[in-house]
Amino acid sequence: MKKIAIDMDEVIADFHPKMVNTVNHHLGLTLTDDELNLFNLRNEEPEMMQQIMALVSDPDFFSDLAVIADSQQVIADLSKKYEVFITTAAMEVPSSFNAKFNWLKTHFPAIKPSNIVFCGNKGIINADYMIDDNAFNFDHFCGEGLLYSAPHNLLVTGYRRVNNWQEIATLLL
Ligand SMILES: [Mg+2]
Repeated sequence: MKKIAIDMDEVIADFHPKMVNTVNHHLGLTLTDDELNLFNLRNEEPEMMQQIMALVSDPDFFSDLAVIADSQQVIADLSKKYEVFITTAAMEVPSSFNAKFNWLKTHFPAIKPSNIVFCGNKGIINADYMIDDNAFNFDHFCGEGLLYSAPHNLLVTGYRRVNNWQEIATLLL
């Protein structure tokens, strides 16, 4: 069976809207989903970035993220044809481990714990496909990266792009 490595945040877990709401609430701002881009902030506003990282480091932050549309059904279908792994760069927010693990148990109960990979550098992952919103994760990846569209990566080129889970179904099933 071919293997697929699937990212969590922005691919199956809807991180961005909750992050924007939380930041607005705690910092008294009214930023829209489009206005708050962590990838720009990291360079342009390191202090605000630090505040945001503190907010998402709350051990419960990841516990109630919404599930990205159609990901449950398509992953169930993919699991009949491929070995599916969840690969999340959880080292970026180590306090998220428990919440992420419980979230997967709740929303993707068919994925075995042994197929869940909390990792740092995803270059170590050995799979045929990787579905991820961060193209840098494909840099040293041995298989094919499929770039899952997110506001922060719309200008990125050089990879096969998927805009939603129905497109993944069309491509891989
Ligand atoms: Mg992601």
